[in-house]
Amino acid sequence: MNRLSVGERALILHSLCEGMSMRSCERVFRKPFGTISRIVREVGDWAIDHQRNLAPVTCDRIQVDELWSFVGENDRRSALKRGDGGVSWVYLGVDRRTSLVITYHIGLRGKVDATKFFRKLDNSLAKDASGDFICRPTIASDGMKAYRDAAEIVFADRVNFGQYSKIYTDTDDNEEPTPRSKFAGAHRLIVIGQPALEDITTWRVERENGFVRQSNRRLTRKTNAFSKALEYHERQLAISIMFRNYCWIPRPKRPTDGSSSWVKRVPAAIECGLTDRVWTPEDMIVAADEFIARQGKSEPSLEQPTARDQEKRFWVVHQPYHQKAMIHKAECSSCKGGLGRMDGSSKITFWCGLPTLEEATALAAEKEPDEHKICKKCLGQYNTLTRYGRRL
Ligand SMILES: [Zn+2]
Repeated sequence: MNRLSVGERALILHSLCEGMSMRSCERVFRKPFGTISRIVREVGDWAIDHQRNLAPVTCDRIQVDELWSFVGENDRRSALKRGDGGVSWVYLGVDRRTSLVITYHIGLRGKVDATKFFRKLDNSLAKDASGDFICRPTIASDGMKAYRDAAEIVFADRVNFGQYSKIYTDTDDNEEPTPRSKFAGAHRLIVIGQPALEDITTWRVERENGFVRQSNRRLTRKTNAFSKALEYHERQLAISIMFRNYCWIPRPKRPTDGSSSWVKRVPAAIECGLTDRVWTPEDMIVAADEFIARQGKSEPSLEQPTARDQEKRFWVVHQPYHQKAMIHKAECSSCKGGLGRMDGSSKITFWCGLPTLEEATALAAEKEPDEHKICKKCLGQYNTLTRYGRRL
């Protein structure tokens, strides 16, 4: 197979991380669009996997925020949709000291996705043998109410949590600032524990929002470069975050001790001890190639069923990656007795068959406390009626 060299692919990847769109890479490098999208696909899948399996980090101050983005169509054109299109908020959790992007989440703005995001954040912080945080972190967010509920569900009293709500001179019905409104101060609200008031602020994560928008062309407002598919939206986001954490060298800092030499800095991942060297886009390409080669060889999971089992009348479909669980009847066309649409070959979906609906519901709730539901097709009201209006 004809493949571009590592150097050529690294140059394309670097351009994608510096705010070029896939179409502009196609024109500038004179390569087919499929070549560019393959780079995003392969490096993106590796970056997502890498970000999910990041070694736990110890952070004392964390700032969280969400930024607006969309896939396919935005909220002016369509009602909010979950799944493969519409508005997708990008949640970021950033370490205040090093500006490491600890974790991200893509979802809607609200309690369910805020909770999922906090669970991811919880999993990426270092804990000692008894399960407590090594360093009790102070988390600061903006004024969104969903964060308060999510923090109480996920962290209870294991963290200090405060909210920084900005006040604007003029707001619309949704309490969003109108274009002409001015900043008129902020409230600092202590929600959990006793955070220091000066730590309840979100400037660092807002600066990171700026970086993500600037380096990722898909998030540039009012252009045609927006994402057309959710998979690629997440891949490019993970690539940008990876690039920011491992490759990006911040500008030297102005000296504070009166000397004339500016202080040199290193990428955030080095400061947090995740790596000991500055990564280059070439390193990302090589690591992605190894990841793709490894993936091709991996064995199917043992949890996969082999045949239809009469005892197992209800199936829980668990997608840990998407943090979702759904319950089907065995005869449902989306389930096929636990074989599913992919005939059991999917590596990110797990099926578990149970004899009763109660047991299935309990398992689904245990696996995914935030988002578990019944299939509308086989178990919902939706399909208890036939085409002619008779109940089955
Ligand atoms: Zn179903």
